Amino acid sequence: MVQQVRINTFVESLTMPARNVEFPQKNGQVQPVSEVFGQNVFTRKEMAKMLPKPVYKTFMETLKGKNTIDKVTADAIAHAAKVWSIERGATHFTHWFQPLNDSTAEKHDSFLTLKSSLDDGAAQVEAIDTFSGSQLLQSEPDASSFPSGGMRTTFEARGYTVWDTKSPMFIQEGPHGTSVLYIPSVFISYNGEALDEKSVLLRSCDALEKVALEVLNVIEPKDAENRTDFVYTTLGTEQEYFLIDRGLYTLRPDLKITGRTLLGGLPPRHQQLEDHYFGKIPSRVLAAISECELELAKLGVPIKTRHNEVAPAQFEVAPIFEEALIAVDHNLLTMDVLHRVAHRHKLKVLFHEKPFKGVNGSGKHCNWSISTDKGENLLDPSSTPETNYRFLIFLVATLKAVLDHGDLLRAGIASASNDHRLGAQEAPPGIISAFLGSQLTEVLDAIEQGRPVNYEVAGRELQHVRVKGTVLDLKVANLPAIARDLTDRNRTSPFAFTGNKFEFRAVGSKQSPSFPMTLLNSAVAKCLHEILADLKAAKGDKPVASEEDQLNVIRKYIKLTKNVRFEGDNYSEEWVQEASKRGLANITKSVDAFERILRKENADMLKDMGVFSEAELSSRYHILTEKYAKDVTIEAQTMITMVIQQVLPAAYDYRRNLAEAAHFMKDIGVEASPEIDLLNELTPIVAALKKDINDLKYFMVDLTKEDDLVRLARACCEQVVPRMETIRDLADKLERNVADNLWPLPKYTELFLNI
Ligand code: ADP
Ligand code: MG
Repeated sequence: MVQQVRINTFVESLTMPARNVEFPQKNGQVQPVSEVFGQNVFTRKEMAKMLPKPVYKTFMETLKGKNTIDKVTADAIAHAAKVWSIERGATHFTHWFQPLNDSTAEKHDSFLTLKSSLDDGAAQVEAIDTFSGSQLLQSEPDASSFPSGGMRTTFEARGYTVWDTKSPMFIQEGPHGTSVLYIPSVFISYNGEALDEKSVLLRSCDALEKVALEVLNVIEPKDAENRTDFVYTTLGTEQEYFLIDRGLYTLRPDLKITGRTLLGGLPPRHQQLEDHYFGKIPSRVLAAISECELELAKLGVPIKTRHNEVAPAQFEVAPIFEEALIAVDHNLLTMDVLHRVAHRHKLKVLFHEKPFKGVNGSGKHCNWSISTDKGENLLDPSSTPETNYRFLIFLVATLKAVLDHGDLLRAGIASASNDHRLGAQEAPPGIISAFLGSQLTEVLDAIEQGRPVNYEVAGRELQHVRVKGTVLDLKVANLPAIARDLTDRNRTSPFAFTGNKFEFRAVGSKQSPSFPMTLLNSAVAKCLHEILADLKAAKGDKPVASEEDQLNVIRKYIKLTKNVRFEGDNYSEEWVQEASKRGLANITKSVDAFERILRKENADMLKDMGVFSEAELSSRYHILTEKYAKDVTIEAQTMITMVIQQVLPAAYDYRRNLAEAAHFMKDIGVEASPEIDLLNELTPIVAALKKDINDLKYFMVDLTKEDDLVRLARACCEQVVPRMETIRDLADKLERNVADNLWPLPKYTELFLNI
């Protein structure tokens, strides 16, 4: 019976045809992506077309921070957005925001308004579609059920969503050919405190921009025409995820409730064969991914790559990088669209960092850099020798940020789910260090030691730009273009320089990239301030810091940040020892990481940069700690239910079958020792499991009485998680030993090999 459901679902999953999706056609051919791209976005181009010229001009000025939006402009934009979206089937609009729970939120309002008038003395009601400037600018959702970390008590539950003008509006297709107008928004309290991910990200981008402009001004002041007016952070997120059959998924309460398998073990054939990475994408999956890409293209999300990942049933999708605040919106949209489209294909997407034990987990590599309004990447060393010092200044600022605030960056990626992925030979451990590659390491070492760059070490590309003589002096004009190093990769580093950007690899697949990026931006901004002060001191009254001034400052920071650079194997035990000698924090557990948000140097930095207030910081700390405790508690409860209602009963049934068989054998005079031996082998496992699960059950009951949040989270980490591991080992032993026809839960083999 049990086997029937499991096997039928499995067979169904194997025989299910791929869903046919009709791609937009033109002249009998599939339309190029470029033509579909952004079709559902109210782009600047679209705005320019639909708005009176002066209104559009005023709006563009507000984007540059010159003034705030006035009522006339807001009304005109709202009207244009309404007309544009109604033409595309919109019936509703919604402020779309990012509360502190790693997802997005929306509340739809219809355009419908009733207008009353007097006609010949009789009251008339007329139905019309309206959308005003004030509705566009601000809305007040019932905020009481979003996490606020104690910043807002329910009786003053006011939260406001405010249009984030930098991120364009878009429509999402709804049922029956209708659609909804989405207005990207920030979410703040009555007092202006951030209740979301977006507000702080915007603040951190501003902080970084401001100081980066000042630094540029000190090292390369230019005439008005060539001056850099804007600087922005760029982000490209490589999103990993698993796709499994939805029918089988529904048979696993653990996947449904917690996003990961709490029980279950590795099949005999899995990653060892290493045949999945970059392998052929299964047709059902490919059908789902391409439909998803079509939707994302319409939403203006520039998806570029798709491929299989290391683990079976694991995939990755990556966009072309964009301005960070847009990239974050687009990453959340990507996750949302993937989730929805997968459903149409009877697939389930898993964003959890570690859905399967013993199988590679998922991350979200955040590729981060800083760009000028002229499109120059400040972390690109390969442009020209003249910009090498500028590059090195931004590089050492980033290294200093990782050195001073590595523990904060660690806190930014901490969660109950990411704990399963970090360490354990598959993702960077609790030590945050930076990898630069041999070329760049040689350049920094040479500068530090005041000696010429050794081209043999620094890479072949450098040889042909060798300057006169054998000794290279490090004057800007003589410094060779530092080539982009594409070969040197260290996949074990949590924070690696990859040619023209840093790749923060420890970020979890499930979380919003916003918080880690906010922390990184802020920390780099802070260190740029330090460097700026040194540059200013060095230049004295001169209008610009000389090459020598700059080099001296760079050298100082190279020395200061040496300890945070690590080129070796981050997974090795030697690195743990070495890092401890270097005084780098090794934070293996989330509960220890969260506290680092409040460490004085981190809190001061975030406040100084104007990114977080004291209240916002303590709210963050509370929300993260509470979320951790909740996640672990829910997992424990789910495990208890599964073991008591599914695993143990399967074992009891099997034992009874064996006992009856043994009995029967004896009656007919047949040797029953195989059955009896097996029973004897099973007994201690079943007994131990029964005892441990009961103990956990009572432990959890006691834990509900714990009203101190920090103690609760600690108990979850130190007591509940290890108990769950022991229980899992026992249950997995049963999975391997109990007859397959009695096992109720789809096994890893079935979950992986079904599509
Ligand atoms: P990889 O070798 O890591 O696959 P890719 O060039 O494919 O490198 O880039 C991975 C991600 O990094 C992509 O999303 C890409 O758009 C992004 N990326 C590239 N350059 C930058 C940059 N300057 N800033 C931020 N992200 C970038
Ligand atoms: Mg990469």
